[in-house]
Amino acid sequence: MAEITRYSLTGIYGGTFDPIHYGHLRIAEELADIVELNHLFFLPAGRPRLRTPPFVAGEHRVAMLQEAIRGNTRFSVDDREVRRPGETYSVESLREIRQEYEASESVALCFITGTDAFIKLPYWHRWRELFELCHLIIVNRPGSVPIRYPSDLPDELRGVCQDRWTTMADELKNSPVGLIFTAPTTLLDISSTSIRNIIASGKSARYLLPESVLNYIDKYGFYAGGK
Ligand code: ATP
Ligand code: MG
Repeated sequence: MAEITRYSLTGIYGGTFDPIHYGHLRIAEELADIVELNHLFFLPAGRPRLRTPPFVAGEHRVAMLQEAIRGNTRFSVDDREVRRPGETYSVESLREIRQEYEASESVALCFITGTDAFIKLPYWHRWRELFELCHLIIVNRPGSVPIRYPSDLPDELRGVCQDRWTTMADELKNSPVGLIFTAPTTLLDISSTSIRNIIASGKSARYLLPESVLNYIDKYGFYAGGK
C-alpha cells in the first residue's frame, strides 16, 4: 500500500497590524495549538489594495510586531511586503514563500484570515490561485457574520469552497494545499480601529495590546492625531 504523506504545517497570518493587538496574538497562539503549527509568520501588508493606507509606516508596524512576539519561539515576522514598493498582494507573497519552501516539500502553508477579510476574498488579486499555494484557516470575530459551514458563505464563495471544507484540523496534514478550516478560537472583540480611536481620544488602550507595543506607540506619538 502507498505511504500517505503527512505534512508539517506553517501558519502565515496576513494583516495590516496597525497596530498588532491581543485579538491577533491570542488567535495566533490558539491556532498554533489547535492546528499544531510548527511555526507561524506574521506577514504585515505594505500597501494593501483593498483598504486605506496604513497610518503607521511598514517598518514601525514590523517593529511593533517584533515587540509583541518577543520571547515566543513559535512566532516570527516576515517583512517582505513592507520592503516591497507599490501595492502588495497576498497571492504573490505566498507564491514566493512556497518557492522558498521548495526544498521542504513536506511543509504545507496555512494562510490565516478573519471572517471579515475572508468574505471579501473574491475581490483579492488572483484569489483562486491561493488554493494552489496553501490551505486557508478562517477565524471568526465579533461583529462579523459568523462562518462555520459553506452554507454561511455568500453565493460567489460557496461553490468554490464547499468541496474544500473541513472541520477537522488534523485533515490539513493530509494535503499540501487547497483545504479550508474554520477554527474554533476565542472571540475577542478587539480591533486596531478601536485602539486607534481610543488613543486619538486621549483615553487608555492598556490591556488591549501588549504594554511594550503601547510604549512604542507612545514613544513615537502614533495615532494621537486621529483615527
Ligand atoms: P483594522 O481595524 O485596522 O482593520 P484589525 O483589528 O481588523 O484592524 P487587521 O490587521 O486588519 O486588524 O487584521 C488582520 C487579520 O486579523 C484579518 O484577517 C482580520 O480579520 C483578523 N483579525 C483582526 N482582529 C481580530 C479579532 N479580534 N478576532 C479575529 N480575527 C481578527
Ligand atoms: Mg481589519
